[in-house]
Amino acid sequence: MTARGPVSPTPSAAVRHRPLDGPGARLTGGLLRDWQRRSHEASLPLALRQMEAAGNLDNLRLAIAGGHEGYRGPVFMDSDLYKTLEAIGWELGHADSPALREFAAEATALLEKAQQPDGYLNSYIQVTGEPRYSRLMSSHEHYCAGHLIQAAIAHARTQGADTPLLGIARRFADYLVDTFLGGEGGIDGHPIIETALVELYRETGHEPYLRLASQFIEQRGQGLIGDSGFGRRYLQDWEPVRETAVLYGHAVRALYLEAGVADVAAETGDGELLATSVARWEDMVATKTSLTGGVGSRHSGESFGDGFELPPDRAYNETCAAIASIQWSWRMLLATGESRYADLIERALYNGVGAAISANGQRFFYVNPLQRRDDHYEEDDPGRRNEWFSCACCPPNIMRLMASLGHYLATTTNDVLYVHQFAGASLAANLGGGTLRVDMTSGYPWSGQVDVQVRSAPPRDCGLAVRIPGWCRDARFVVNGSPVTPDPADLGYLTVRRHWMPGDVLRCDLNLTARLTYPGRRIDALRGTVAVERGPLVYCFEQADQPGDVSLEDIALSPGDLAARDGEVPGIGPTVLVEAHAVRQEPARQGGLPYSGQPEDPPTAPSGSAAAGGDPITAVAVPYFQWDNRDGRAMRVWMPRTGPAQ
Ligand SMILES: [Zn+2]
Repeated sequence: MTARGPVSPTPSAAVRHRPLDGPGARLTGGLLRDWQRRSHEASLPLALRQMEAAGNLDNLRLAIAGGHEGYRGPVFMDSDLYKTLEAIGWELGHADSPALREFAAEATALLEKAQQPDGYLNSYIQVTGEPRYSRLMSSHEHYCAGHLIQAAIAHARTQGADTPLLGIARRFADYLVDTFLGGEGGIDGHPIIETALVELYRETGHEPYLRLASQFIEQRGQGLIGDSGFGRRYLQDWEPVRETAVLYGHAVRALYLEAGVADVAAETGDGELLATSVARWEDMVATKTSLTGGVGSRHSGESFGDGFELPPDRAYNETCAAIASIQWSWRMLLATGESRYADLIERALYNGVGAAISANGQRFFYVNPLQRRDDHYEEDDPGRRNEWFSCACCPPNIMRLMASLGHYLATTTNDVLYVHQFAGASLAANLGGGTLRVDMTSGYPWSGQVDVQVRSAPPRDCGLAVRIPGWCRDARFVVNGSPVTPDPADLGYLTVRRHWMPGDVLRCDLNLTARLTYPGRRIDALRGTVAVERGPLVYCFEQADQPGDVSLEDIALSPGDLAARDGEVPGIGPTVLVEAHAVRQEPARQGGLPYSGQPEDPPTAPSGSAAAGGDPITAVAVPYFQWDNRDGRAMRVWMPRTGPAQ
């Protein structure tokens, strides 16, 4: 049985963990379920309207009519439709929705008519008459094909293998195999076809799809793609995947490629290939990841920066990059069973992705900085969320992730059910000898209490494991009222092995007390600052919550006891209150320049003293994912700090 989610390794795959079979994981409550429901009710209807307005469907109608004038939008317009169709596929797996089902049927009928007799399908190429694959470096033809395949897999896994969309995808994939397998080149400037082909192999058992994915990965880095104008690093074509130690270039492309590398390594049992991906993941986490889990710090080329190049105000952190990072980490978690991958998924999900969506689910960030100034102004980027984009990659990417969130909650090994993410959920794991069904209830991430109650269990011993988040310094566990302690050898997890009975409860208490986080000394852009986190949530300071006439630009934190002073902003969530100073002195000036012969550090006097130029105030922090839902004024995650680090 395959998983009813985006990733379903074959029985012979070299993975330590497997996703739950079938509809094994279902969100039932809490913040993640709220996000999923919001995406269904508010975001998807918006996407359908926006795509009709932007021309995504008209482009296909033009292709069907044989028109050669009037194509609208970038070359990859088809991919927006495919990502939306993928989201609809996963949504239909939760519950029927006549409106979404009808849209999918109409779009599928258009795709069937637009598909060429040999299987090729791309509205841009067909309408403009540009020769196929004449500039694969920038035409995104495989990229669009990859998203078509992923959409088809979503529909096949929730609607059945006879779904017409899978037929369309297979005809196209067969054409790709006939055209490119065994040849040299044919590599798209924008990866995703790799992981799509592996998943199609998993779905159909047709081995040439896997071989073509492997070929695309092995041939990358040999300069076969061409010069994009951004250089070969931009396209991950600088050196072969097996010889690359760090991620560079366009972040989303690099991360989709890594997901494909992990998939190919899993299905071919290539431990050497996997090890190279592990090394790049470690380097990305250690030197190129924002506190929010966002990655790809440079606006130029939407790319990774150098190590420790992590500016909070100019962080690019494309939403799609956070999503792609989750997709990669999930595959690494399956391959290795290591909790650090689930830790990064949690960080990127609650912060990097969570902040990209407005509270009403109808506006989105493409770029996710960790600071916005009051005078922020860019002609093409107001710094606030938008309904849609001329390059609309991010919104439907969010929707397909939200629709498939349940997939990322839990895994199994032979006889252990592992819970990686905490939420209201019902989980069913086929373990050797029977099915372990549990209901998880939790107010996470607002509350650290998680109850996992057994509904039914195999008639013998089996394991139930929960992740101990890397940020958590104080976690307590109780089974039916009796404390249990983690085995230190069981890194990042508490595993309880016993003859589970219906009604048994494993209770987890994760201490969510707010904490201070300091930047590593090599991150120049963050030197002298401090941030606040609470549980898995990164916090930020918005102008709207600060006292009186104090400008956010003039606040320096002198952190005291954070935990005892939690509050609440209605509609925004729990706050963290922090002792701070409002700096009243005029900024330094030397000849009119914002520099001085004397250091102008934040005030260092003890709290309460105005002598150093700072008035004591209480600064208010709110969850970062909730920022920009009010007045659109200044925000920052990293604050200047006073006094010694605590
Ligand atoms: Zn994007």
